[in-house]
Amino acid sequence: MPQLATLLAQAGRQTDPLTGAISTPIYQTATFAHPAVGESTGFDYTRSANPTRKALEDAMTAIEGGVASFAFASGLAALSTLICLFNQGDHLVVAEGSYGGTYRLLDQVFARFGISATYVPVTDTAAFAAAIRPNTRALLVESLSNPCLAVPDLPALAQLARDNDKLFIVDNTFLTPYWLRPLDLGDGLGADIVVHSASKFLAGHNDTIAGIVSVRDPALAERVGYLQNAVGAVLAPQDAWLTLRGLKTLALRLDAQQRSTLAIARWLQTQPQVKHVYYPGLEDDPGHARLQTFASGFGSVLSFELADNAAVARLVEGVKLIAFAESLGGVESLITIPAVQTHANLSAEERLRLGVTDTLVRLSLGIENADDLITDIATAFSLHK
Ligand SMILES: *Cc1c(COP(=O)(O)O)cnc(C)c1O
Repeated sequence: MPQLATLLAQAGRQTDPLTGAISTPIYQTATFAHPAVGESTGFDYTRSANPTRKALEDAMTAIEGGVASFAFASGLAALSTLICLFNQGDHLVVAEGSYGGTYRLLDQVFARFGISATYVPVTDTAAFAAAIRPNTRALLVESLSNPCLAVPDLPALAQLARDNDKLFIVDNTFLTPYWLRPLDLGDGLGADIVVHSASKFLAGHNDTIAGIVSVRDPALAERVGYLQNAVGAVLAPQDAWLTLRGLKTLALRLDAQQRSTLAIARWLQTQPQVKHVYYPGLEDDPGHARLQTFASGFGSVLSFELADNAAVARLVEGVKLIAFAESLGGVESLITIPAVQTHANLSAEERLRLGVTDTLVRLSLGIENADDLITDIATAFSLHK
């Protein structure tokens, strides 16, 4: 099996024997002609399968180490389809500090269909255990919490899920398979399902919305594949191609992004305006040691506390290189205020409990020069001392 960097660079190669095209063709077609009655080229209708989407799905299967992958129109389309695995009356245990849209999907949409969720502190494996009920079907956790980057004990949660015969679903958007492959957490343990918002690191250029699911078990893969076609929230061919294109440079981008993130996190720690920096790559971060037991990197998102609301507004309005925009993982650096953007749909009490104060700022670092990014932030800080 080739190394991950090789799989990534060659994602989608050798998918066009007709011409030998190096880049996967974009099969912009809704339907496919049949050679004869009872015969198929393997493709009938693009909702069911499309060659460009399949090239992406096959690449992700090799990269994640699963048996099958499925590409969706967005991360939330992927999650919605996964929740359709469950029935009325089923229950999920979900990590606190999950993506805001995941809370909204569960509490405002699927709750109406009788699927309930209990949220527990992401670092507290015992709380997950205590929240399991007879009707619990799955544990759902993100590789790092959002926006404070707390580190779950994924191997312990995988063990807990196995011991209790529950599905273990990991949203690996924040670490990507370059740093973490949740389907294989060692000792035969792993997630049953990994899900990504490919809109973030995988596509990587702040230009595409996409979702990916990879599955470890063939019977489960069959059920997810059935739902992908039945629900129909599939990724379009052009966006599948953009996501494949993004994968090719994932290793290079993430190495550069992580290097900058660590440099900027250390610099922020020395700034009098900054009260606290959350980043598991920092040696004094509470998740630093734990994350290294199952992942090979720390990501390129950090967050930090400023003194007051005015300082937050001055920073996000003062930066010029860094865009004041939500999202993360792309080549361009972005800054957000989680309390009013990504986490606005949580209640004020819930936000406070999760550490999402009004003075918390989240930074996603891109591939710009790190010194330029530091100068940008320093200028915004000093403009209004
Ligand atoms: C962005 C995000 C999602 C939702 O993905 P979309 O592609 O925006 O639908 C889900 N989970 C996490 C962790 C995310 O960051």
